[in-house]
Amino acid sequence: MKIIAVNAGSSSLKFQLLEMPSEAIITSGVIERIGFSDSVFTIKVNGDKKRSVKSIKNHSVAVQIVLDALIDMKIVKSYEEISGVGHRVVHGGEKFNDSVLITDGVLNEIEQLKDLAPLHNPANATGIKAFQEILPNVKQVAVFDTAFHQTMPKESYLYPTPFAWYKKHGVRRYGFHGTSHKYVAQRTIDLLGKEIDNSKVITVHIGNGGSITAVKNGKSIDTSMGFTPLAGIMMGTRSGDIDPSILPYVMEKEDWSIEEAISQLNQESGLKGVSLKSSDMRDIVDGVNKGDEHCITALNLFAKRVSDVIGSYYITLGGCDAIVFTAGIGENSKVARKAIIDRLGALGILLDEEANQVRGEERLISTPESKIKVYVIPTNEEVMIARDTLRLLK
Ligand code: ADP
Repeated sequence: MKIIAVNAGSSSLKFQLLEMPSEAIITSGVIERIGFSDSVFTIKVNGDKKRSVKSIKNHSVAVQIVLDALIDMKIVKSYEEISGVGHRVVHGGEKFNDSVLITDGVLNEIEQLKDLAPLHNPANATGIKAFQEILPNVKQVAVFDTAFHQTMPKESYLYPTPFAWYKKHGVRRYGFHGTSHKYVAQRTIDLLGKEIDNSKVITVHIGNGGSITAVKNGKSIDTSMGFTPLAGIMMGTRSGDIDPSILPYVMEKEDWSIEEAISQLNQESGLKGVSLKSSDMRDIVDGVNKGDEHCITALNLFAKRVSDVIGSYYITLGGCDAIVFTAGIGENSKVARKAIIDRLGALGILLDEEANQVRGEERLISTPESKIKVYVIPTNEEVMIARDTLRLLK
């Protein structure tokens, strides 16, 4: 059975076609710059990348082009071979604690949630509608970034702000990257050979965006992103948690609007803001190797922010069996991982320096003496989307 996993952005459409239940990737690709005259379509088949540039005016045209390419390249004989389409949807609010089959009502709810995710949910909904239009008889499933975190207890998801903010306006911690945290947590529990009901795992998803989750018995009980993805640890261009009073102070000094100030926190902060150089960890490491003071400070600040949250989740979980690193930095940067783990000595964590050389592969990177196991596990959100789609088709 063939399932497409889709991630639609405002001007992009990423997809992966998977054979299920074997989870083999048949093909994957992306259309970028939808709505522009120079849209770029890239598709990968048997390790070969094909790239073409043409005008793709909207998401419906993009979906048509993807499906036509599947037929032209003889990957499928007809649309009937596609049994389901799973969509990544960023915000499910408090409404969705699991993936769901998309009905008119569900699509409406996803659109209603645009208040909470103004950039993402409308784009996700556009992707869903484009597939509905072209594959009207194929079942579609929504997989929410927030759903995994709906198991958090009140003391994790409520802010100590007036209760009316929550009641009237839904101000609470939602958390994001849920599909990734769930995937690596499940995989870690498998590798530990533990019963899920007796497991404590800290998942560290650090890419350009980043969040950390405390997973007890397979369920999220706390996570570092909050009402929006701006909260929590330091990221590529986002500040993570700061004292909110800094905002009006800087706004007054610089004569900034609230939009300008928030954009400074979303786009000009994090590794980029502190290093004065780049939001990319590779450039930061390069700077560290050259003795660049700003890059050294950026790496130290990043490692402190991440290790402090890990330490606090050790308490939240009442111990910890394993810590798992994933996403761009977590999977690829031995320097960032070492900088973080070096700060966790108080928990009895010992890094195996040799194993830590790993890049983009599953590996245990702690020594046998380490009190907590540390893993690198490449995340796979597409497989999770395809698994949930398969489950709901049945
Ligand atoms: P996103 O949050 O956009 O999905 P990714 O998970 O793809 O991001 O992570 C992208 C980031 O991963 C890059 O900005 C870079 O900082 C980091 N990264 C990727 N490869 C390496 C590497 N070899 N060494 C260090 N950092 C890397």
